[in-house]
Amino acid sequence: MPTKTPITVAHGDGIGPEIMAATLQILEASGAALDIETIEIGEKVYLRGNSSGIEPSSWASLLRTKVFLKAPITTPQGGGFKSLNVTTRKTLGQYANVRPCVSYHPFIDTKHPGMDVVIVRENEEDLYAGIEYQLTPEVTAGIKIISRPGTEKIVRYAFEYARLHNRKKVTCFAKDNIMKVTDGLFHKVFNETAAKYPDIQNEFWIVDIGAAKMADSPEAFDVIVMPNLYGDILSDVAAQIAGSVGLAGSANIGEACAMFEAIHGSAPRRAGQNLANPSGLLLGAVLMLVHINQPEAAEQVHNAWLRTIEDGVHTYDIFTEGVSTKKVGTREFAAAVIERMGQKPNTLKPVAYARRPAAAPLAALTVSSSAMELKGIDVFVYWPSRDPNALAAAVGKLAGEGLSLQMIDNRGVKVWPAGMAETFCTDSFRCRFLADGQAEMGRLIGLLQRIHEAGIPIAMTETLRTFDGQPGFTLAQGQ
Ligand code: NAD
Repeated sequence: MPTKTPITVAHGDGIGPEIMAATLQILEASGAALDIETIEIGEKVYLRGNSSGIEPSSWASLLRTKVFLKAPITTPQGGGFKSLNVTTRKTLGQYANVRPCVSYHPFIDTKHPGMDVVIVRENEEDLYAGIEYQLTPEVTAGIKIISRPGTEKIVRYAFEYARLHNRKKVTCFAKDNIMKVTDGLFHKVFNETAAKYPDIQNEFWIVDIGAAKMADSPEAFDVIVMPNLYGDILSDVAAQIAGSVGLAGSANIGEACAMFEAIHGSAPRRAGQNLANPSGLLLGAVLMLVHINQPEAAEQVHNAWLRTIEDGVHTYDIFTEGVSTKKVGTREFAAAVIERMGQKPNTLKPVAYARRPAAAPLAALTVSSSAMELKGIDVFVYWPSRDPNALAAAVGKLAGEGLSLQMIDNRGVKVWPAGMAETFCTDSFRCRFLADGQAEMGRLIGLLQRIHEAGIPIAMTETLRTFDGQPGFTLAQGQ
């Protein structure tokens, strides 16, 4: 008898308990060796006053087992309730979201019969860091964080995933033609990492045209890795065009704990009627079995499920007259999968999962150190009269001490010197001050003090530095 792997299970809300019961039955029939701890999450926990939907004591279970199989939950209506997924992801450092998007043609309707794409989405950074400000009555801003270690972790995960699953190519989507510093770093780290995996092809697409290509010819892609926001949007697009939104599972991977679930919600209107399709959660559980290195059980479950789909045994949500042979409920679907344990599909491609070799530890992440030199400061000010020339006159004379006003922009477009009268201006302007050589922080602070004393409200400041001689900031448009 193999050693059982401890996992934490939560049955969730709505259809959650029914699809979890079906999933666990199938896992048991597959011979998966699991030692299950159960925790309560979701609506009842929220309504007991835990704003994240999880009891503090449940974290101990997650940290002990490091593996979480989670049914969907209902987030109560009204304010003050935090998303449990976001809390889990952030608290447990789940840096990778993995979503296989596969079409099951001709058994499930899709325009893309050959689609078999895995989206690997960075999960912790980007605009999702949630660092946002209202600068002035008219203008808000959010800070997009892309770090070297964060990017190294996700890109390396994508290549390791490709290697383990015998996939041939990893594609990166980003927008570094516009976001030269942030997406520029993502692209650079992708190139550096790709060079360490010569056995796997790599390619890069600007996200807009890449997304269009993916929506049109998804069979041209294999594994796609991308920053958080693009990944959030495009993983839904990919699941939708595969025709399998209701069937897709997903994994959130982190060192402290990995979480596996269906991508759909708790479908409260379908709850308690033996109607729901357990496939999304079951395929989430297959990802979990691979993660805990039980590939034999993963393969058995996945192939039996494919065979069930192929035999036309379908729940109401995927039932199609002429294609499906039998409309079943949640329990009957689970029984049909169990009945087919050990069988493989005939038309659909069977899956094969390999045991992961005792992994050679990955090389440490790059420790970055660069020679940093302070060059100046960007000062965002509130200037409701909107006249950039008057603002230049007012702040330009406050520079001094080796600093000079170099330019003023509005929403990234240069408006002084030599701005265009046609440029639309809001009430928030950025004034860039640069030093002749190296700037001194004390002098920059002195400048801020003088701007403040002149009665000009400062909304935000950003220091300007070079790193190994390269500017760590972009120029304004028109500069
Ligand atoms: P939903 O995914 O629950 O339902 C959308 C539609 O798909 C409904 O018509 C539903 O009946 C159907 N559906 C979903 N899963 C199904 C299944 N397994 N079998 C058959 N039909 C299925 O989305 P929603 O209605 O927008 O959200 C309902 C609740 O779920 C909300 O409280 C939301 O916050 C929550 N939610 C939770 C998660 C999660 O826990 N990961 C994710 C998304 C939504």
